[in-house]
Amino acid sequence: MSLRLYDSLTRRLRPFEPVEPGRVRMYTCGPTVYDRAHIGNFRAFTWEDLLRRYLRFKGYETCHVMNLTDVDDRTIAAASARGVPLAEVTDPVIEMFLEDWETLGLEEPEHRPRATRYVDGMIRLIEALSERGLTYESEGSVYFAIGRFPQYGRLAGIDARGLTATGRAAGDEEYDKDDPRDFVLWKGGDRGSGETVAVWDSPWGPGRPGWHLECSAMAMHHLGETLDIHAGGVDNLFPHHTNEIAQSEGATGKEFSRFWLHAEHLLVEGRKMSKSLGNCFTIPELVERGHAPSAIRYLLLSGHYRTQLNFTFDGLEAATKAVARLYEFSHRVREAVEGETDASTDLRGVATRARAAFEAAMDDDLNVSEALSAVFGLVREANHLLDRAHPRAPSGTGAALDVIDAFDRVFGVLALRDRESAGSDEALVAWATAQVGERERARANRDFARADAIRAELEARGVIVEDLAQLTRLRVGPRTIQVPRPLRAAK
Ligand code: AMP
Ligand code: ZN
Repeated sequence: MSLRLYDSLTRRLRPFEPVEPGRVRMYTCGPTVYDRAHIGNFRAFTWEDLLRRYLRFKGYETCHVMNLTDVDDRTIAAASARGVPLAEVTDPVIEMFLEDWETLGLEEPEHRPRATRYVDGMIRLIEALSERGLTYESEGSVYFAIGRFPQYGRLAGIDARGLTATGRAAGDEEYDKDDPRDFVLWKGGDRGSGETVAVWDSPWGPGRPGWHLECSAMAMHHLGETLDIHAGGVDNLFPHHTNEIAQSEGATGKEFSRFWLHAEHLLVEGRKMSKSLGNCFTIPELVERGHAPSAIRYLLLSGHYRTQLNFTFDGLEAATKAVARLYEFSHRVREAVEGETDASTDLRGVATRARAAFEAAMDDDLNVSEALSAVFGLVREANHLLDRAHPRAPSGTGAALDVIDAFDRVFGVLALRDRESAGSDEALVAWATAQVGERERARANRDFARADAIRAELEARGVIVEDLAQLTRLRVGPRTIQVPRPLRAAK
């Protein structure tokens, strides 16, 4: 079976093949690190993680680059407003970003370049464009002359000849241009105090790179002149990716990326995310409200990437239940694999069908709804067969386990759920140990009713309490904890 992906440039579903057999070079636009990323950003990043994992599932090696935009209008504005160097804004935001990345169980890309460390490459790219006559200089800034690049705008479905001054996207290129359609490659640095927090020397004088240029330079640095996949959210289509194509192809004369993939936006309770509506949730805000990262991840992945995803708290509840159902099933099957088999029931047939349906759905432009319905179909049918074979296990449980493993290599929610259980075990152990201390104090005060109540409470939470001569032994799941008994002061 072969993977087909929807390419925004040709506006078609096309069979995916990398240039180099077996190895995928992909670039995904990373966060602008002026403020903590919100769940909308993480919809894009989590979907990109799904894409990456699915490519690996299909047997490809990935060379995945995701940048950190640590210099642009927004980071500069944040640093200028506080009167601090740029890194004082961006370093902590990057740390938070990586924390959230870890919380959601996203895989580490092979490279995570920071724009500020690639300025030399950006300058070289402008020089290459200048040699090809595609740029002009004006008052210390350098612009891309889109009038000299007739294929401009194909990605966004824009005919460059028809672009007018009013038709251009509002952006950050407000300076002296020959033509209002042009975009900035190098921004002269002596304009306004705001620019002073980020200044590099260049053949055109001090200044800093334009945002679009950053991604082209970092992508080509790590991946070469032609990538297999370039991805981002739909808002990147124009002008960002449109300009990336113009700069990269203008400089190399080669196709920049063979596939352009774009994820639709996330809405919150049916509305566009915005600071003024107070619905720009971050990952830790949701975790603090008691929502498990595995459920957040599941919800972010549960809609097709080319349709808007409506994030709701009801949806998050439903995601929690869906993860729990899968998790219980995975444990049930794992136990059954070790149990005695009843040959009259067999899981092999349903498992093989589910596995084929899962892969066929994912091959079809990452159709997650169909893929999940194949997995839940298996859960339903297999649970039924497990019930029927009880107390023995059906044969073919290994095949069902393979489907669950395949599912989780791609979706990565059960591994997260495992981590959460381990974490909650930790919390339970800490709580139980403290309760034992409390019980000892109650006993020392001859408050036996209180001591018994504590023991009952421990047992209600699944903790087994054994009183030995010198210590109290606790069993929390598979763990044993020994709490020494304090020496009583002789009366
Ligand atoms: P930024 O930090 O603004 O450069 O955005 C980082 C990534 O998040 C880009 O790929 C954006 O397209 C994506 N993004 C921004 N807002 C949303 C949203 N509401 N839903 C989904 N993706 C988004
Ligand atoms: Zn980008």
